[in-house]
Amino acid sequence: MSESTADIIHRGGCFCGAVTYQVTGKPLRSAYCHCTLCQRLHSCAFIHTIHFPAAAFSWTHAEPHEATIETYAVSTKPWKIRSRCKQCGCPVASHNTKLDKWSVWGGELERDEKGRIQGWEEIKPTAHMFYETRMLDINDELGKWAGYEGDSERLG
Ligand SMILES: [Zn+2]
Ligand SMILES: [Zn+2]
Repeated sequence: MSESTADIIHRGGCFCGAVTYQVTGKPLRSAYCHCTLCQRLHSCAFIHTIHFPAAAFSWTHAEPHEATIETYAVSTKPWKIRSRCKQCGCPVASHNTKLDKWSVWGGELERDEKGRIQGWEEIKPTAHMFYETRMLDINDELGKWAGYEGDSERLG
């Protein structure tokens, strides 16, 4: 890598394009999450979640936010303010107000002309986390963790 990672910008947004954001620099964490909350909120087996410090995240669609974004929280994690698009219903990002970090999801990042996520090398997952509640076994080279990578029991 020749350029400073602080210059890297990843853009993402909802399915319909009404809600867009950008994140800059290196993520704090990038992992496939197999937790039951992600499974239920996103209706999928696992998601690629990417965490950034608050200063790295910004909305890029036109104001006012209330026109395009609906925010909500689930009762078990009231400090996480989740945003979804009012038009297409996509969850687009969530703000952990305790740690002042934002989560975005790999599937919603900008693609190149072949449909691949741009800047993949900088934001690709480094682990599988909350792997005990997985809905399928993953046979890749990444570490499998009971909780967060490096901060829980390693399962594989
Ligand atoms: Zn939308
Ligand atoms: Zn999760």
